[in-house]
Amino acid sequence: MSPAIASSNPLPYTTSLSGENLRRLHRFDAIKSVVNSTVRSHPLNAVQPRPIDSLRRGDWVKLICGASFEDAADIRNLSLVYSLAGVDCIDCAADESVVNAVNDGIDAAMNIGSVERPWVMISVNDDKEDLHFRKAEFDPEDCPLDCSRPCEKVCPANAILLENSSSTGNHSLGSSDALGRLQGGVVTERCYGCGRCFPVCPFDKISAKTYIRDPAATSELLKRNDVDAIEIHTTGRHIHLFNELWESLGDSIKHVKLVAVSMPDVGKSTFTTMSEMYKIMESRLIGYNLWQLDGRPMSGDIGRGATREAIDFAMRLAALPNRPHAGWWDKFAHNR
Ligand code: SF4
Ligand code: SF4
Repeated sequence: MSPAIASSNPLPYTTSLSGENLRRLHRFDAIKSVVNSTVRSHPLNAVQPRPIDSLRRGDWVKLICGASFEDAADIRNLSLVYSLAGVDCIDCAADESVVNAVNDGIDAAMNIGSVERPWVMISVNDDKEDLHFRKAEFDPEDCPLDCSRPCEKVCPANAILLENSSSTGNHSLGSSDALGRLQGGVVTERCYGCGRCFPVCPFDKISAKTYIRDPAATSELLKRNDVDAIEIHTTGRHIHLFNELWESLGDSIKHVKLVAVSMPDVGKSTFTTMSEMYKIMESRLIGYNLWQLDGRPMSGDIGRGATREAIDFAMRLAALPNRPHAGWWDKFAHNR
């Protein structure tokens, strides 16, 4: 598995469709207050280790907020709590408001306890095939009113919120029948593309909308002094797309301390592909280089057998007769 922990499900989320933002702001204050009083009664007495030391020791822990999860309020809360817990890194979407939320959470944690600032990592992709970069979408008005709404129940992020306009008395959409119609749908900023809702819809109404993070906006984020690392998600099957992304990022890549590449098992060509990518990156790779080889993307979310696959992948890599010699591998893994 990658040296990371999957994000816990976002914090419990109770909502109606109105007044939500205000309630979330109040909740951040409430969480800060609870954490503050907990820390006062159980003081944090040790400064956490530096992220790079954790990487070298093999106990690096990363909070994955989700490459597509963009709910700033929950991201701020998660960043606050996990910073206090001592994570080495917080991985989030390459989006300005998300990065701001992560840093707000970290700042709040540092005001509460003596913790080492975790690195902030932003996640980008080089093509639309990586499952991290998609959102579910459907038109609720297309849904049969008598649907039992399994999509709502299965979503781990509470990203699907539906209500019947007849029960709310809201007929603003122009419904003329007494039964009303469904309103709401996917809360885009909360959907992180896990895919659980797609197969459960009995009417096949849900589709995936894929996207690529804008390299120009990403470059601007990389130049900020509160962004420390980037994770490039690639399928490993289109080197030219990896090259295009790398070129688009230009010298902004020199601002980060670590470049991680997340790549699935691409069979026999895995090492060749990694070598080609490394050659592309080498001249502008100032910081550390980390490879996140989960075996398959979204391994914490989709399907059974991800751990077995990851172990099989690791064993295959280790058994390769032409794998890089130790010195090269050390440079490969820890280039700075
Ligand atoms: S893909 Fe579906 S189940 Fe997964 S987070 Fe998005 S809306 Fe929820
Ligand atoms: S399960 Fe399908 S039809 Fe039913 S509410 Fe969800 S998207 Fe609509």
